[in-house]
Amino acid sequence: MRTYRKELWFNTETRVALINITGEVEEAVRESGVREGLCLVNAMHITASVFINDDEEGLHEDFLEWLNKLAPYDPKRYRHNLTGEDNADAHLKRQIMGREVVVAITGGKLDLGPWEQIFYGEFDGRRPKRVLIKIIGE
Ligand code: ZN
Repeated sequence: MRTYRKELWFNTETRVALINITGEVEEAVRESGVREGLCLVNAMHITASVFINDDEEGLHEDFLEWLNKLAPYDPKRYRHNLTGEDNADAHLKRQIMGREVVVAITGGKLDLGPWEQIFYGEFDGRRPKRVLIKIIGE
């Protein structure tokens, strides 16, 4: 069995960002040489997500509007922020949007549905953060 590990680094200019990382994950699959297997992609930080959905700008605005209704940025609203942090909203948003995705690899390619794209969801950016890609198979 082959295994392959790679980190993607991000340092977003904005506090919140949704970034399509499908191309980077495809590149990692090529580098791994795995033809049949599984690809795990996970955020390594508790205020960021990896998720799969449509790459459509209106939908991305809908996601952010929905997340801001559920967990608005507000330094005074949350108990977590009593620690002196201001990122409780980002922890909650990460929990809703998920930590990781697992995608099948078939014939050396990501076996995604027709509209499925992989995204990094940043909810407390403007600092270096990582995504882990782990590929296993043969
Ligand atoms: Zn925190």
